Parts: sequence; structure tokens; C-alpha cells
Amino acid sequence: MRIILAQPRGFCAGVVRAIDTVERALEKYGPPVYVRHEIVHNKFVVESLKAKGAVFVEELSEVPAHAVTIFSAHGVARAVEADAEARGLNVINATCPLVTKVHNQGKRYAGQGRELILIGHAGHPEVDGTRGQIPAPVHLVQTVAEVDTLPIESDTPVAYVTQTTLSVDDTRDIIAALERRFTDILGPDTKDICYATQNRQAAVRELAKLVDLVLVVGAKNSSNSNRLREIGAELGVPSYLIADGSELKPEWVRGVATVGITAGASAPEVLVEDVIEALGRLGPVEVSTLPGRQETIEFRLPTELAAV
Ligand code: SF4
Repeated sequence: MRIILAQPRGFCAGVVRAIDTVERALEKYGPPVYVRHEIVHNKFVVESLKAKGAVFVEELSEVPAHAVTIFSAHGVARAVEADAEARGLNVINATCPLVTKVHNQGKRYAGQGRELILIGHAGHPEVDGTRGQIPAPVHLVQTVAEVDTLPIESDTPVAYVTQTTLSVDDTRDIIAALERRFTDILGPDTKDICYATQNRQAAVRELAKLVDLVLVVGAKNSSNSNRLREIGAELGVPSYLIADGSELKPEWVRGVATVGITAGASAPEVLVEDVIEALGRLGPVEVSTLPGRQETIEFRLPTELAAV
């Protein structure tokens, strides 16, 4: 069986920064450090950090006063920041700088008096954080059909921002529908979909042309991983999202000559290797990697930790 790996795949700069933030905080302050929400959407990463002394919580009420508390890469609402301050927590913010950029863009548009529309998925922590950062009502749109039901007059000045990990194609369609519906509209095109999301989606498209099966390594609650699987399926290739090699089903690869593997932005390479090993247990494999785009983007750590 041939295995072809997409390039790029796996960790993005925002995820590397978020994980480094927890590790450096553990070094600087000693355990425990508290992390609100999964630092990135991957159980393996979360369990590894737990073993080093990180404590993951969903609510700040679970954190003792004055404890070191890290906000996840997805960002948080202003109410969460205020709650942390009221509790006297020592906060380190690991929100990805590209998510913060969306917050700032949204605040600017709202400050101009425009009705703000957020293209994103309800219930995702990044969407909750972005809505909660903007001091004005935010209309959430998830599909082209929802554009027509927005309770806004067509000549009202509007603006939109987007969740960073959406499908580039779906978002383009929603933006086109918004531009048809509203006469005075501003927005950043698909540029707010971050570089890592765009590169991984382009890479899985290339991969899907060459393979009989696409395996996306990532967590079920990882937005960008789900989008990668959807792209493989839309291109007519059976595509599955799996956490690691233990979730590989032998029937998926029966009669398959070439398997493509990619990984979501929060999935470590060790899990890709685990999937390759699982395939290797079913028969001999030959592994190659596509010549994709090289990524050189790095983000500086939060200032509290930069000198550790
Ligand atoms: S996927 Fe993009 S926005 Fe999300 S953490 Fe990574 S770099 Fe940041």
C-alpha cells in the first residue's frame, strides 16, 4: 500500500504557541497551572500537558484565587476576562494572534456603527469568544440560507468577520450571498480564514486527486479537522476523521492501493506516525510526502513568558 502525506499538515503557529505557553508557564511558576478549556482541540496534547501539571477547567469558578490561569488559543469573551480579574487570577492569554486580529477587526467595524455579522459555527469556543469581545450585537451566520433570514434592512451599513478555521469555499459562497443582499457592506474577503487553515485545505485538495482514501488525523471537536475531512468527501474520495491509529477500521483500506493522510492544525505528528504504524500492521507500506508549501510563520510567546 502507498501512503501519501499532505504538506503542510498538523500543527500551526498558533497551536505551537499555545502549547509552548502552557509548558513555559509550568517551568516558570511550577505546577499546577490552570487552563480554561482545552488549550487546543486535541486529547493527546491535553493529556500530555496534564501529566506535566496543567489542570484543565471549563469555568473560572473551578480555579483557586490568584492561580496562574491560561486562556486557550480559541480566545475568550470580555466577560471571561472581567471574571478572571474579579477573581484576582494571574492570567496568561494564549489566544492565537490571528483570532485576536479578528476581534480587533470586529471592534473597528462595530465602532464605525455597522451591524456586525460573524460567519462561523454556533457553539465553537472561538465564536463565543469573538461574539463576546465585540461591544455590540453580533449576528451569527452559518450557511448561505441564513443570509436571507438576517433581521437587517438591505440598506443598513453592515460588516462581516469570519471564524478562522472555516471552509474557504463555503465562506466565499456566504460572502457572495451577503454582498448580494446588502448594498453597503465591508469585510476582509476570505483573508480572515487563517493561513494554516487555507494551506491545509489546499494541500488536502491536492492529496485527494492522488489517493483512494483520505484519513484526517484530528479530534472530533476540531473545526479545521472536520473541514479537511469534508473537502476530501466533497471531492468524491472516502474520507474519515480519526484521533489516532486505534480508530482505523481495516475495512476502510480493503482493496485500497493509495491512502492519503493529513492532520488538523491541533494534531501532533506523533499521531500521524501512529496511523502509519496501524496501516503498516495491515500490510507493507511505502510512505512519501507531497511537495507542498513550506510554512515559516512563528508567533512570539505572551510577554509574561517571553524571557523564560
Ligand atoms: S488554525 Fe490559524 S487561527 Fe487557529 S490557532 Fe492555528 S494559526 Fe491560529
